[in-house]
Amino acid sequence: MSKFQQLYELLLADGVAQREQFYTPECPPPDLIELVHTPNYVQAYCQGTLEFQAQRRIGLPWSPALVRRTCVAVGGTILTAKLALTQGLACNTAGGTHHAFPNYGSGFCIFNDLAVASRVLQKLGLVHKILIVDLDVHQGDGTAVIFQGDESVFTFSMHCQANFPNAKQNSDLDVPLPIGMEDKAYLQTLGSYLPDLLSEIQPDLVLYDAGVDTHIDDKLGKLALTDTGIFLRDMQVLSTCVNAGYPVACVIGGGYADDLKSLVWRHSLLHRAASQIYQQLRL
Ligand SMILES: [Zn+2]
Repeated sequence: MSKFQQLYELLLADGVAQREQFYTPECPPPDLIELVHTPNYVQAYCQGTLEFQAQRRIGLPWSPALVRRTCVAVGGTILTAKLALTQGLACNTAGGTHHAFPNYGSGFCIFNDLAVASRVLQKLGLVHKILIVDLDVHQGDGTAVIFQGDESVFTFSMHCQANFPNAKQNSDLDVPLPIGMEDKAYLQTLGSYLPDLLSEIQPDLVLYDAGVDTHIDDKLGKLALTDTGIFLRDMQVLSTCVNAGYPVACVIGGGYADDLKSLVWRHSLLHRAASQIYQQLRL
């Protein structure tokens, strides 16, 4: 998955962010990951002793390098969330592993960074109420289950109804979308939910999963957004939150294409939108 490295390089090359605006996360200690995941699962995954079936459900070949990347990505979302509180807006260049459940991983997701970051920030007393806005094309099923019955974290998932996972879970708010939905209808649908949600919940922090597998050319998505549609979506989410005074921490979420250059460009739309909004915020 060289897309993470390429995304970083593209953001620098295009001047979307300056070198000094990048922060390097660390591997969080296991007890932070265990705020969400069972110690048995965390240990088995990190030591490479997961059973074959459990490993297959994740869908990525195990290696020590992947363990490190997985943990650092979780650390990245924790750091992003902390930075969002002081800066108003911050973006990870990874993250969005929303199919990870407390005791198993699935769909390329091992540890649920959105959930771990939420629990860590709550534990540190930095936030109480969190809103998770999950616009990846797939339902945030792991996140939904982790926070079921937890009134301090509101889970909102807008996804294509015909996509993975087959068995959907109950988020606090699910908005299933029909196959082939295009930019205009998508942006209108989003606009009909997000402002009301924000004023109802009044979160201390918004975690935004900006998956680009909503793109028309995505291999695993069934919606039909264009690059422009994705950029407008990200602008809409960020400006709605920031203008109303809610800090936003963003993760890149899913995106699948053989043409890595186009895929990395799509992911960078989030940071391009964030850069514009951040400049407005500082004026
Ligand atoms: Zn996805």
